[in-house]
Amino acid sequence: MTDPRPRATPLVMNRRRSIPSFSEQQFARSVGFARDVPPRGRPDALAYMDTGVLLAVAASPECLEVFCSHYQGRLFAVQTVIEEVRRKAQPAAPGDPERLVRIAARLVLARMLIPGILQADGGANLNAELYDSVMLQLSKMPDVANETHHALKNAGEAMSITACIQNNAEGKKSIFFTNDRSASLVAQAREVAARNFRHVLRELVCAGQVDETKAFQLFSDGYQVSKVPAQECPESAQELACHKADVCAVCSSRFD
Ligand SMILES: [Zn+2]
Repeated sequence: MTDPRPRATPLVMNRRRSIPSFSEQQFARSVGFARDVPPRGRPDALAYMDTGVLLAVAASPECLEVFCSHYQGRLFAVQTVIEEVRRKAQPAAPGDPERLVRIAARLVLARMLIPGILQADGGANLNAELYDSVMLQLSKMPDVANETHHALKNAGEAMSITACIQNNAEGKKSIFFTNDRSASLVAQAREVAARNFRHVLRELVCAGQVDETKAFQLFSDGYQVSKVPAQECPESAQELACHKADVCAVCSSRFD
């Protein structure tokens, strides 16, 4: 006699949200940055930094200073991201096109890591199985699949997303700061909030650390060392302005 109960085949099982397959055109327009984090940010969340955002911040000494002041005590990077920053901090040969990146990387080490403002998450509690599944998902993204020599970069993103998933599960709310589109989409699929350098600057404006005109200039400085996806770039300083009229209430509640 056949069992009348529906069987849990892959077709009827509930699925967690997963990365959809993209056409090239769809993918070019897609980003996974969090829409449910208010523009002024979440001061109670741990900030996990990807290499690009760290470099963009350090592209300007002024940005570096206000950033450290704003995030002090909750600023983390996984070990692989720190290794990538160290690799980029090698002295530049004359005419090195990566000169600005190298200077920024050295500032991240000297001004954030060594003083202990940027804390290393060594991954002691990292769930290896979870990490492998995030890494696999990341490696299937069109941008990543076309790369051949960015193993350290991908590992840093996968490890950061894994750390945020595990922290969130333990009630330690964590936000992943990355300028990378593929990483933002994988983070979104894993219900990890991803934010980019533009969002960092907007937080600094709301916190009163810089005004929108300065923030717009800092965005341009940072963009020289780490590109933000085109659809996320502000076109004017006004897009980074705080809506102070009601004590930042708009920035607190409205999704940007
Ligand atoms: Zn505001």
